[in-house]
Amino acid sequence: MVSFKLNLKKTMFRKCNDYFNVDKGNSVIAHTRVRLGLNPLNQQMYTLRIVPSPICHRCNTNEEKSPSHHFLRCHSHSVTKITLLQKLKLTMDLLSIYPSNMFLLTNLLIQGYPNLTFVQNVQLFHIIEEFTTNSVRF
Ligand SMILES: [Zn+2]
Repeated sequence: MVSFKLNLKKTMFRKCNDYFNVDKGNSVIAHTRVRLGLNPLNQQMYTLRIVPSPICHRCNTNEEKSPSHHFLRCHSHSVTKITLLQKLKLTMDLLSIYPSNMFLLTNLLIQGYPNLTFVQNVQLFHIIEEFTTNSVRF
């Protein structure tokens, strides 16, 4: 019974990654909301029946406004987006990270990557949190 409870506790209450809580502020809160699926993007709001459509209305791609779309593909906030993508490419080249698709890249930006060091994960989080602040979307 004791081992059952310990296993249940380990499964249900996994340890939070330390790099989730390095900084404070609105951009970190917004980043956490995206990680938890509680973000104000249309895809999430549509699943909660808050908005009538999951489609992004800021660009003409007719894609759902998901975290992947917002961070990587949306054409709105183009100057901020270009800065984000340049910093991401530079940082990922330095860290030798080459995600094979947009889903993996988005997941890396939202969740971090366990094979990276604490400092490297914080570095990636700073880039995405700076974009979150500058895009004024959250
Ligand atoms: Zn868009």
